[in-house]
Amino acid sequence: MSELPYPYEAPVSQALFDRAAAVTPGGVNSPVRAFRAVGGTPRFMVSGTGPYLTDADGREYVDLVCSWGPMILGHSHPEVVAAVQAAVARGTSFGTPGEGEVALAEEMVARIAPLEQVRLVSSGTEATMSAIRLARGFTRRAKVIKFAGCYHGHVDSLLAAAGSGVATFALPDTPGVTGAQAGDTIVLPYNDLEAVQEAFHRHPGEIACVITEAAPGNMGVVPPLPGFNQGLKDACEKNGALFVSDEVMTGFRTSRAGWFGVEGVVPDLMTFGKVMGGGFPAAAFGGRADVMAHLAPAGPVYQAGTLSGNPVATAAGLAQLRLLDDAAYDTVNAVSAKIQALVTEALAKEGVAHRLQTASNMFSVFFTDREVRDYDDARRQESFRFNAFFHSMLAQGVYLPPSSFESWFVSTAHDERALDRIAEALPAAARAAAEASA
Ligand code: PLP
Repeated sequence: MSELPYPYEAPVSQALFDRAAAVTPGGVNSPVRAFRAVGGTPRFMVSGTGPYLTDADGREYVDLVCSWGPMILGHSHPEVVAAVQAAVARGTSFGTPGEGEVALAEEMVARIAPLEQVRLVSSGTEATMSAIRLARGFTRRAKVIKFAGCYHGHVDSLLAAAGSGVATFALPDTPGVTGAQAGDTIVLPYNDLEAVQEAFHRHPGEIACVITEAAPGNMGVVPPLPGFNQGLKDACEKNGALFVSDEVMTGFRTSRAGWFGVEGVVPDLMTFGKVMGGGFPAAAFGGRADVMAHLAPAGPVYQAGTLSGNPVATAAGLAQLRLLDDAAYDTVNAVSAKIQALVTEALAKEGVAHRLQTASNMFSVFFTDREVRDYDDARRQESFRFNAFFHSMLAQGVYLPPSSFESWFVSTAHDERALDRIAEALPAAARAAAEASA
């Protein structure tokens, strides 16, 4: 690694990581941050500006994680920061209704036709958990279909992810999730409509909903095949179940109306997070007004939250959404396309088998030469090549998601200078991927 522009060690991050490990399990507050998949010391970031992050050792990185999606305008966007400062100055939490949450809900509803009503929550996990509860309460049915490789947060019943193949009753994926919690979850292979139809056939009148990532990014980017989401919607409609589209990742990122804006398939319920919070903990679920009317206090399905609709979080989210006009999406899409081209060019030059998959401006690189259509395909990639690629990029000042099963995220702030830095880093990283061995 002698050609790399600066020492690879990160002593200050390492010291912080050691301190963290003493007081926090694994030293992190969300597992993927720990670099377990790629190895090495996670970087402790101290500041972010535009497309850059600076770590505790004083090194700057071009950020291609963007806080796992939310920072679509880059870090510390002046207008978002100003909205947050103004909100904080008025008070940080009231535990009462406030105009900010109404304005954010109005903005969301105005952008997405099938979103007739929304309820604000604080995380994507809460959004999907609540949507599932509502779907069950509305249909008075218990079972839920989800797809292997789709992540919907750490909701007990949705952490179940049994092996691929035909419909399987899921075994809990993690200790702490009981058979009872996972037992009503049916896990199916992604992009397999036949498996869905068969599951409905085997469980007549029992399935409350199908939940899917609108365009999955949590097994790497695996877009729905043409007709898949519509097929899910049709199967749900035919069988009296609800179609729940999880747009926590895609919402307000893949277009101004999220993946719905790209594909136009109308869900019964949708979930949101990430971009709509402007970097703060704000998330939501919503959809058909007649279904949402079942939610307390309008209806009997209970759901609540002390900090739901928090005035600072909603101010950040609203400021961010208002800046996300068509021109902003054109910019993000163009940035994404440029980086995709650079990555493909560098890997091809080194003869590295790879497959770059996209869902609008979300993309990821699989180290395989085969199309990736589901989780089994994704797992067949040569992840050891990604790990070498990742570390070379990191050492050269480009921060990628620390796992080959994650989407890369870009922002409107990724300018020519940032793209040049990525372009400069790629040849050595591609070489590292080519030379890597399992
Ligand atoms: N749904 C999807 C599609 C996600 O990508 C995520 C998080 O990455 C979640 C739900 C959970 O969101 P949160 O991490 O805010 O709980």
